[in-house]
Amino acid sequence: MADLANPEIARRFPDLHPAFAHQEAAVEANRCLYCFDAPCTVACPTHIDVPRFIRKLASENFRGSALTILDANLLGASCSRVCPVEVLCEGACVMHRYNRAPIEIGRLQRFALDVFHASGDTELPSLPSGARQLRVACVGSGPASLSCAGELARRGHKVTVFEARPLAGGLNTYGVAEYKLNAEAALREVEFIQSLGVEIRCNEEIDSARFTQFAAEYDAVFLGLGLGKMEQLGIPGEDLHGVVDALRFIAEYKTGERLSAPGRVVVVGAGNTAVDAASAARRLGANDVSMLYRRTVAEMSAFEFEYEHAKHEGVEFRWLAKPLRIAGQAGRVTGLECVRVDTGDEFTIPCEMVIPAIGQSRGRALLESAQGSLKIFAGGDLTNGGREVVDAVADGKRAALAIHAQFGETHA
Ligand SMILES: Cc1cc2nc3c(=O)[nH]c(=O)nc-3n(C[C@H](O)[C@H](O)[C@H](O)COP(=O)(O)OP(=O)(O)OC[C@H]3O[C@@H](n4cnc5c(N)ncnc54)[C@H](O)[C@@H]3O)c2cc1C
Repeated sequence: MADLANPEIARRFPDLHPAFAHQEAAVEANRCLYCFDAPCTVACPTHIDVPRFIRKLASENFRGSALTILDANLLGASCSRVCPVEVLCEGACVMHRYNRAPIEIGRLQRFALDVFHASGDTELPSLPSGARQLRVACVGSGPASLSCAGELARRGHKVTVFEARPLAGGLNTYGVAEYKLNAEAALREVEFIQSLGVEIRCNEEIDSARFTQFAAEYDAVFLGLGLGKMEQLGIPGEDLHGVVDALRFIAEYKTGERLSAPGRVVVVGAGNTAVDAASAARRLGANDVSMLYRRTVAEMSAFEFEYEHAKHEGVEFRWLAKPLRIAGQAGRVTGLECVRVDTGDEFTIPCEMVIPAIGQSRGRALLESAQGSLKIFAGGDLTNGGREVVDAVADGKRAALAIHAQFGETHA
């Protein structure tokens, strides 16, 4: 596994929801009411049997607890850290009805899977294999493809994952905020998927020409390409040194390439990615970080708790303002010239870095070059336009079950 453990980054980005100690996990597990209708399970896109895994934790059946989670979601370890539980399982917890704190399902799930991965025995019980072994290619190695690949491998199929970047894991490795999931933990989960028999080939970008050869090599293909590049602002000055798009900024610090940010940073946009970049800039040493958004606070797309987190980190918000041009001197950013959309007043925010975070494009080129007899499946951000890790995992699993059912079971 690549050594990404940078002590400086680890120091600056401590866990947002630290791991439970054994005793804490036991106390929390015993608070659960084990509801028969489990609204938490319903709220989870992968439908993890939450009462069942928590009951097993409470009785110290740690392996049983982990297997219950993995049965529904092979990427339960990363989901336990990155899921917006406030609006999913924990948001649905019945404890809210009694004005009590919801069960900390995410942290309990993390505890169960951390114990499982540390145990050294990560073998899963075998599943009935298909009538014939299929050859399946998964393009992209993000959560959608990893889930699809792992589920197929568990059913005896031969799966190869192609990843354009040097490291596997997609945005789990390169995008999600470090204080939720670091690249090391993301890669540990990638290794777990490999241990199920999945082959992963990094540094192999699949272009249309290569894709057309797949028809001869594979029975089915799953496309888990994610979204494309970040959108540009389309204003003068974007080529100046100091303009870094949010995904690049985040990937650089997560892989240890960037250990600091300049004193003054402006992030343009108000989605979750913008918030993550702004909070990270503060953690990397910027004194003055503002976020610029052309609409109002009520219209921002970031989750409420992400917004609160950024405010807590000291990020300032400027609503109803949009960028006009990036000012520079000697090729470097010196400020962002803006206009208030309600009054038309212009103003300049002095800064050394501008981080555009106004969304990612959709790269569907491969989908369009889909060929002849080859059956193509797709899921994750590519098809849902950009949601959460758990949605990608659910898509990948659904695709795997469909591939298995359509070809593995019926073509004996
Ligand atoms: C900054 C940021 C923070 C986020 N934070 C959270 C969070 O806290 N919680 C949460 O649940 N979700 C979060 N998300 C969303 C989540 O990361 C995505 O929904 C999820 O990763 C989508 O998975 P995926 O497999 O569809 O795509 P990705 O994770 O994007 O993976 C796609 C992979 O395909 C590869 N690829 C693309 N084209 C090719 C090709 N032609 N050949 C080979 N490989 C290719 C890419 O390199 C990439 O590795 C965040 C997203 C961003 C951008």
